[in-house]
Amino acid sequence: MGTHHDCDVLIVGSGAGGAPTAAVLAEAGLDVLVVEEGPWVDQGAVTPFSLEQMERQYRNGGLTVALGRPSIAYTEGRCAGGGTEVNSGLYRRPSEQTLERWREGWAIRDFATGDFMALCDEVESALSVQTVPGRHTPASERLRAGAAALGWAHDEIPRWMTYPEGDDAESGQRQSMTRTYLPRAIAAGARVLTDTRVDRLIVDRGHAFRAELTDAEGGPVTVDFADVIVCAGAIHSPALLQRSGLRGLIGRGLAVHPTVKLAARFGEAVNVSDDVPVHQVKEFAPELSFGGSASHPGLIALALTDAWSTMRDAITAWPEIAVYYAAITSQGRGRVQALPGFRDPLVTYRLTRRDRDVLGRGLARLTQVMLAAGAREVYPSFRHAPIVRNRADLATLSDRFSATAASVMTVHLCSTVPMGDDPEVAAADSHGRVFGTDNVHVNDASLLPDAPGVNPQASVMAVALRNARRFVEARR
Ligand SMILES: Cc1cc2nc3c(=O)[nH]c(=O)nc-3n(C[C@H](O)[C@H](O)[C@H](O)COP(=O)(O)OP(=O)(O)OC[C@H]3O[C@@H](n4cnc5c(N)ncnc54)[C@H](O)[C@@H]3O)c2cc1C
Repeated sequence: MGTHHDCDVLIVGSGAGGAPTAAVLAEAGLDVLVVEEGPWVDQGAVTPFSLEQMERQYRNGGLTVALGRPSIAYTEGRCAGGGTEVNSGLYRRPSEQTLERWREGWAIRDFATGDFMALCDEVESALSVQTVPGRHTPASERLRAGAAALGWAHDEIPRWMTYPEGDDAESGQRQSMTRTYLPRAIAAGARVLTDTRVDRLIVDRGHAFRAELTDAEGGPVTVDFADVIVCAGAIHSPALLQRSGLRGLIGRGLAVHPTVKLAARFGEAVNVSDDVPVHQVKEFAPELSFGGSASHPGLIALALTDAWSTMRDAITAWPEIAVYYAAITSQGRGRVQALPGFRDPLVTYRLTRRDRDVLGRGLARLTQVMLAAGAREVYPSFRHAPIVRNRADLATLSDRFSATAASVMTVHLCSTVPMGDDPEVAAADSHGRVFGTDNVHVNDASLLPDAPGVNPQASVMAVALRNARRFVEARR
């Protein structure tokens, strides 16, 4: 038998796309049911960037991979609030050039730059986006100092944080979706069903009317709705649509920011395991940007595993070590394919030759920043990497680097259901309605036509607010 729910609008997923969508619709008086596969975990209930957090709030404990040469490891939040609960909170608007590229390349209607930036203003105020009031962490300060010593452009990236204790940076509280848009949606009457996965939508001649779900105990649940808005993220939105029989361009254009990492050891304690650096180096942007990563001791061990036999002794000095990354804009593309009988889709990604070269250049330049910042030893993340102690070792790094031997990863996934009025390149219309359907919408990172070249959450949220408002207007 199982449980049954009725609602006006079903929203699948409660992350950066789903939560603002739920708030806008519920506040407009629509009867909204949000279904989220992961659990509700209050901010502060687990230590940020810890292995426990990966266990509870990440999909597959953070271990998922897009196959390719090399394969790319990717992580996704899987909890109420999605990626916003676990991410670094670094806020960047898309550039005007990016917005223009999207508008022109995908024929996106009603997408004026000024309107979009006004939505970004709204997101910034709703999430209290601001810079750190007090001192930066030592690892962030090192990155800043290294860039300054080389004369390379860098800045502090603001975050969605409040600081209840004034300039005590450690008191910062992340303004994720469980603290902002989800409580707003619930206050306006939205229902939120966590620990429940949407397996399939029943679609008849382009019209969806029912969803089949599985609850935490594995029991069946059904939901009948008038409209469905899929916000399950760039991997699981296309997978759900494909499981529901919708195909076309869906899942084909996966875009990511591929990233390579290194660990840097300084002569003094720099490790703050529950925070990440807020500085980024933008000298080579948008092609390349450098920043700091989570540096929990377990993650440092992971960063050393590529050349464990030469680097393993360093792990005992973990308080002196922090992890940094070089992220690139990629010309490659990937694909998400739901496979019958499998729970997770098959994800593939193809880096181009240029992408592989830029990854190598990026790692060498990031190593240069670390040396300029006073690092005593740098441990790059690729098989048979040398330990870099000086500029001479940098040449060895460049000689030995091979992208296929590198641990490439990403946390920025998008573009699997691109929006726009050009059906040659888009899979949903300019406001996210999936082509070939009259009531199946997407409203998350899948809609971004390509990777924005900056941290994407601001773009995802602004697009979600825009489309949710259009949905409400159309309903009226
Ligand atoms: C570790 C990490 C660090 C990051 N750092 C930053 C940063 O500093 N700045 C930035 O701008 N961006 C950052 N990002 C990226 C940012 O979090 C994402 O771009 C954003 O969350 C994408 O929003 P979304 O709504 O598309 O997907 P998500 O936020 O991932 O939400 C999708 C939700 O849908 C749920 N779901 C999936 N399938 C189903 C289903 N079948 N049924 C029900 N629910 C389902 C998932 O559990 C998830 O909660 C980071 C991401 C990660 C993982």
